[in-house]
Amino acid sequence: MNEIRHNWTAEEIIAIYNRPLMDLLYEAATVHRKYHDPNTVQVSTLLSVKTGGCSEDCCYCSQSARYHTEVEIEPMMSLSQVKAQALRAKASGSSRVCMGAAWRNVKDGPEFEQVLEMVRTINKLDMEVCCTLGMLTENQAKRLSEAGLYAYNHNLDTSEDYYQEIVTTRSYEDRLKTIENIRKTSITVCSGGIIGMGEALEDRAKMLVALSTLDPQPESVPINALVPIEGTPLEELPPVDIWEMVRMIATARIVMPQSQVRLSAGRMNMSREGQALCFFAGANSIFAGDKLLTTPNPDIKEDMHMLEVLGMRTQKPFEKHPQPTTVEAADSKIPALGEKPKWSRPQKVKSEQ
Ligand code: SF4
Repeated sequence: MNEIRHNWTAEEIIAIYNRPLMDLLYEAATVHRKYHDPNTVQVSTLLSVKTGGCSEDCCYCSQSARYHTEVEIEPMMSLSQVKAQALRAKASGSSRVCMGAAWRNVKDGPEFEQVLEMVRTINKLDMEVCCTLGMLTENQAKRLSEAGLYAYNHNLDTSEDYYQEIVTTRSYEDRLKTIENIRKTSITVCSGGIIGMGEALEDRAKMLVALSTLDPQPESVPINALVPIEGTPLEELPPVDIWEMVRMIATARIVMPQSQVRLSAGRMNMSREGQALCFFAGANSIFAGDKLLTTPNPDIKEDMHMLEVLGMRTQKPFEKHPQPTTVEAADSKIPALGEKPKWSRPQKVKSEQ
């Protein structure tokens, strides 16, 4: 029972999602206990190392240059700023630092070299380091791996069918190709999605099909609740109901038993009781810090207090996978190829939101 399956269908997943809640919770918690310590949560800190001015049109994002939001374009963070923030995160109990840059795709050059140096620096602090930098070639993935990157985040966001309603500047296939490039290295894959963007239950199920049929399944699966941002096309959408979040997490846990399921954006609108139910349903990671890239997030002290009240411990770095070795820039065996990959630009017309 509960072997890892890579052939889930949308119908099966919908049936799981719609089970009576107590049955769903019971099964998810049982699977969770089989593969994970149910009293351990990983705390990760998200740092926006390059904020705003993004050329993409992701409807949920405050950093797209196409929308009038309150986010200001900021220059890239310096290495010393990143190191100081990572040390602060470590001292607060975070085991992972996730660095995000508002880029369509990674371009070889000084900025990417700086990110590689940030990866080396954080790995040498004995913290797991993750990046989310947009689309990535195989050569760039190998260079990140050589620098000591532990994980790469590249969300599928939603189903392939609904994706074109949310993003028109790149295709689902590009997302999968980047994940494939990461899989050619020892970097672990972090990929999940967002609920509450106006999608149907079928889209949520199809996204879980796309993730769970990857072989291997992503080591980490963030489940985000949309945080509607003023100025974006999704600004008017209502908040996600906690029961939908609990059901989504429980379903993800059942179909991807080994993955670390991340209770990600949207926690500001959740009570501690709601979050505790998400942990019971199989979530075993949260993002800490007062901001998730640019959206508000609970204070880490409050999170630590919540975990203490629940009798949960924080996961130490490298409990799930070994620490990568860092190769210094001067010793690198993988030169930048300066490629100019042709990632797609579907520019399909969006239907009315
Ligand atoms: S989600 Fe990422 S790629 Fe999309 S607009 Fe925001 S920063 Fe750009």
